[in-house]
Amino acid sequence: MPALDVYFETDRLGAAIAPWLGVIPAFFRLTVRPGRPEFAYYWPNDPNWSDFPFPMHEGVAYIFSGDGLAARAAGGAFRLRAAIKVMSGELTRPELVALRIWHELLHAVGQPADDMVPLADRWLPPEGFAGFTKEREAKRSVDTNYWQQQFYHWLTLRAIDDEVRQKKPA
Ligand SMILES: [Zn+2]
Repeated sequence: MPALDVYFETDRLGAAIAPWLGVIPAFFRLTVRPGRPEFAYYWPNDPNWSDFPFPMHEGVAYIFSGDGLAARAAGGAFRLRAAIKVMSGELTRPELVALRIWHELLHAVGQPADDMVPLADRWLPPEGFAGFTKEREAKRSVDTNYWQQQFYHWLTLRAIDDEVRQKKPA
């Protein structure tokens, strides 16, 4: 099970978001720590990432305030490292933020968290797939908590499956 220490940039962020980490399955062993992790700006000239703080070490997730930052990205991940940006206007929607954290954690364990649409016939049962397709045909957004949760659960099971397989002797 991937274990990550979770750091919040401010107490305000922690108070709003930490209680919602339970939305993320226990496969991800998250431990909230005080203080801030070591981080770096890896692509200072890229408008998506310029002042986006990435944790420097594996096993760390950093949740920081995006207020006043220039970087466009809302989240990013490397192997067992994740960084998630939260705007203060989003603190009233903590579930959305928890799903964003879950999304980046899935990237951090190598899952294709951006492929909800191309993988739809695999993660949805037939009835669900029909409903999902209808939403898309009606040009309604499928980037909603409802669909994302189902997709992320499926990806988490996939990550568990991958881990079990890797542990088996060849
Ligand atoms: Zn992504």
